[in-house]
Amino acid sequence: MFNFKKKFGQNFLSDKNLLSAIVADAGITQDDVVLEIGAGAGALTKELSTRAKKVISYEIDLDLKEMLESLNLENVKFVFADFMKEDMKKVEENLSSFKVVANLPYYITTPIIFKLLEESEKLTSLTIMVQKEVAERIVAKAGGKDYGILTVMIAFYGEAKITRVVKRDMFYPAPNVDSAVVRIDKKQKFEIDKDKFSKFVKASFSMRRKTLFNNLSSLYSKEKLKQTFDNNFLMKRAESLTLDEFIETYNKLEN
Ligand code: SAM
Repeated sequence: MFNFKKKFGQNFLSDKNLLSAIVADAGITQDDVVLEIGAGAGALTKELSTRAKKVISYEIDLDLKEMLESLNLENVKFVFADFMKEDMKKVEENLSSFKVVANLPYYITTPIIFKLLEESEKLTSLTIMVQKEVAERIVAKAGGKDYGILTVMIAFYGEAKITRVVKRDMFYPAPNVDSAVVRIDKKQKFEIDKDKFSKFVKASFSMRRKTLFNNLSSLYSKEKLKQTFDNNFLMKRAESLTLDEFIETYNKLEN
């Protein structure tokens, strides 16, 4: 009897229609190589293996090894390791391009997303199950309460949309919250130092209710801010700026 481990975020799926719909949302074809993070009992892995050319599936929990290997999925390579500790260069060294499809463990959703978006050279899209509340933050529009650092930094790397909402009772064991599938298609890179830009976005949002002038004075002198922008702009809040406006503001201050 398998003991579900909460510490690994183990909430498994089994509904065939749902699994098939997630793979369809990702647009997987026979030409695709898919990376899955968190094989669990292999329900999504099995569905992926019938539709993709090849699947590489990570699983941290060694108690699942025997069961997963006994599935005998020919085009699937299971890797029993903590994905967060893997070197992305090594993960993708023999691949030309790949897509991620995963029902992510909730305790490390954002670190996994950013590891993939920031460190991979060959990733083309991510189709991931996340908590509904996180999904809403990812796709939020400027001006709303859900709009923040996560929205802006994901938009920096790709275009995100929610493809479906999934009720909690579709999982076993059922988590306390509903989920949603988000698809993020990577876009061309901006010619910007991503670490500096990320610091800039974080500083802009550091105190949500404060103005850009207040928040950005932790990074730039008040004189520089006043020289570069008019008062109207400096009185705005970060939550009102779109990604393009963040980039424009950053470039004005850095160049
Ligand atoms: N894909 C399965 C499904 O949909 O039924 C399982 C999804 S479950 C939400 C997440 C899985 O990720 C669990 O099996 C868990 O053990 C695994 N996991 C958690 N942390 C991990 C990590 N750092 N690296 C690799 N796998 C991890």
